[in-house]
Amino acid sequence: MPAARKPMTTTRQETLLRWKVTSATRGDISHLVILNANGGLGWCSCEHFEMRLQPKINEGNRCETATRCGHILAARKSLTDLIIQQLGSEPEHQEPEDHGQNQTTPQQSS
Ligand SMILES: [Zn+2]
Repeated sequence: MPAARKPMTTTRQETLLRWKVTSATRGDISHLVILNANGGLGWCSCEHFEMRLQPKINEGNRCETATRCGHILAARKSLTDLIIQQLGSEPEHQEPEDHGQNQTTPQQSS
């Protein structure tokens, strides 16, 4: 029977690309996640990643769903939430100007 899972908590480190994510099964343990490692696939210090996922990446597997552990996914979600929050709190200085131009077909000068 699996241990009761706690919600993972994510803590931002010195940059937005580094997060500490607590273990879902062992709340006293946290893993370091580096989101831009492995060419953007991410890196995690947990056993599952090091034993199972990093070898796949080393073999050339670039599948995001196959190479990311739950900690990487949690960190990515937290980063996304943070960015959306910050973007939403920024004052909107620029009103979209409508001069009747069709923005869907931008003209390209060659
Ligand atoms: Zn992990």
